[in-house]
Amino acid sequence: MTRAKPATPPTTRTGAAAQRRRLRIALGLGVALLVLLAALAFPRIERAYQEAIGDRDRATLDLATQILRGALSRTEALPGLLAERPILAQLLRDPDNSGLVPFVNEQLRQTALALDLSDVYLMDERGLTVAASSYRSERSFVGRSFTYRPYFTDALAGGLGRFHALGTTSGERGYFFAAPVIDGTEITGVLAVKFTLDAFEATWADSAATIIVQDSSNVIFMSDRPEWHFRTLGPVPEVGLEAIASTRQYPIARLTPLPARRTALGDTGYDLIRLDPAEGGEVFVMQTDLVAAAGWRVSILSPAAPARTQALTALGIAALAALALMLTAAAIWQRRIRLIERLARQEEDQARLEARVRERTRDLNTANAQLRAEVEERARTEGQLRKTQAELVQAGKLAALGQMSAALSHEFNQPLAAVKAYADNAEAFLGLGRTDEAGENIRLISGMADRMASISKHLRNFARRPMDRTGPVPMLAVVEDALELMRPRLQGARAQLDYTPPEGEIWVTGGRVRLQQVIVNLIGNALDAMERRDAPEIALALETEGARCRLSVRDRGPGLSEEALAQAFDPFFTTKAPGQGLGLGLSISYNIVRDFNGRLTAANHAEGGAVFTVELDLTDPPSEMAAE
Ligand code: ADP
Repeated sequence: MTRAKPATPPTTRTGAAAQRRRLRIALGLGVALLVLLAALAFPRIERAYQEAIGDRDRATLDLATQILRGALSRTEALPGLLAERPILAQLLRDPDNSGLVPFVNEQLRQTALALDLSDVYLMDERGLTVAASSYRSERSFVGRSFTYRPYFTDALAGGLGRFHALGTTSGERGYFFAAPVIDGTEITGVLAVKFTLDAFEATWADSAATIIVQDSSNVIFMSDRPEWHFRTLGPVPEVGLEAIASTRQYPIARLTPLPARRTALGDTGYDLIRLDPAEGGEVFVMQTDLVAAAGWRVSILSPAAPARTQALTALGIAALAALALMLTAAAIWQRRIRLIERLARQEEDQARLEARVRERTRDLNTANAQLRAEVEERARTEGQLRKTQAELVQAGKLAALGQMSAALSHEFNQPLAAVKAYADNAEAFLGLGRTDEAGENIRLISGMADRMASISKHLRNFARRPMDRTGPVPMLAVVEDALELMRPRLQGARAQLDYTPPEGEIWVTGGRVRLQQVIVNLIGNALDAMERRDAPEIALALETEGARCRLSVRDRGPGLSEEALAQAFDPFFTTKAPGQGLGLGLSISYNIVRDFNGRLTAANHAEGGAVFTVELDLTDPPSEMAAE
């Protein structure tokens, strides 16, 4: 089997493999690029989210600052107003007035309650508290000295004193305002008010963000995280530390730094604060506002962790989208590769198929040529066979003629002798002038001549090469001709013929001369079989059945042996002595009948003897007689 020449498919297939390799490389590169991009983009995305967090909490910071500013400015004016009360100057003038002290104490308590102040108290010019709103409580300010507080000194100097500190008596963080008590033109004492800051922190605690208030020394003074109180964020200046100590503003021992790393968040003004792991490691976005009057910096610290989560989520989504895009592209690519492969396979199959078809076609052509040669050979052989058969027929006929010659000579001699006698008689009668008798004898001579002409005609017909064509043949006439031909032999053998011709002609398909030859042959064989019998009997039966005509020739001979039954129609099968039979008669007859689409069969009759039957197709009579 010759294989198809490898055409384009393998190249296409190699192309598909290369494409597949390229796809894998592209996918790998794509993923690497994606990772790189993600790594590069992550800090920026996170920063954007951190900024967004800062922007979001800006309003909270503003609100907290406003509230603080408002509270301070509202309270700022109070000590000045309260100091104008005459009774205060009166008490300062007469501090030992036991009737006045309780009265002022109570008045200050009422005022503190009404104005929602933590403390209202009156100090003399030495800083000693003369009356206070807390006179009833355990930690009463009465009798205590606050000369170390700047608000006292500031107010005594004639200005407005302000200060924030952890109360040395109360232990509460508070904001202090103080104003001088002026008696005439003289400052005789100081009135101070204090309000606590816890309430602000309570409101801040609601938010997730942490708010811190730092003073100028970076000390966290207020925060909604109590643990951060008095921690420092940033360096504490030396001067500040001294001031704190001298004014007893905060307990120095509690001033510990809050360890954190601080970086600016771009140019937004926000800072990123990273607490030490020891402090929880939290990260905040910090932004700051000022409460200038108090020297405070208010900052909001928004947890930055969500920014990281959001950045990761956003990056994750983007990466997933990119990955999905890449996978889709890869899938499309993959499909394209598969398509290319399929096409290649199809092309390969096609090529294989075509090769196979070519191969088969070649085989078929060879087979065809062989067949044609065989057919031609057959035709040649058949032609040869036909020629041989025709020659054999002729030979058979001549043999039959030879056989018949004895009978024929007798057949001719008898009328010839009769003709001689009649002629002699006619001559004698004519000599005697008996013309009538002479005429009678001449008529008899003429009859004899007719008879001999008839025999001669049949012989001629029999002997000549068949030129007859196949067509409608009158069966009765053919049988008649054959009997006429065989008459000398029949008579010679003194055979009794049992034959009743049917009424009306029977037309069959065949050739007249050849059919006649078949019948002559069958009758001849019948006579041969009964050679040794004294009274041979031959029965002919001609009948029609359906679309067939059947002629049977039966004899009373020994019948057909088993061997003869099997081989009678084989060429050269004969049981006759050499020189007497060629063994061709039945074989030729069989082929003749078969050529007419008929059948010649042999059988043994139940009552002895052989029966040969010729079956032929019935047909319509021709418009003109079939030519011989
Ligand atoms: P041939 O007559 O030359 O032998 P045939 O082909 O006519 O050749 O016959 C072949 C043989 O068939 C005969 O030799 C004979 O044995 C047998 N046969 C033919 N006709 C008859 C018959 N009517 N009865 C018995 N045997 C027959």
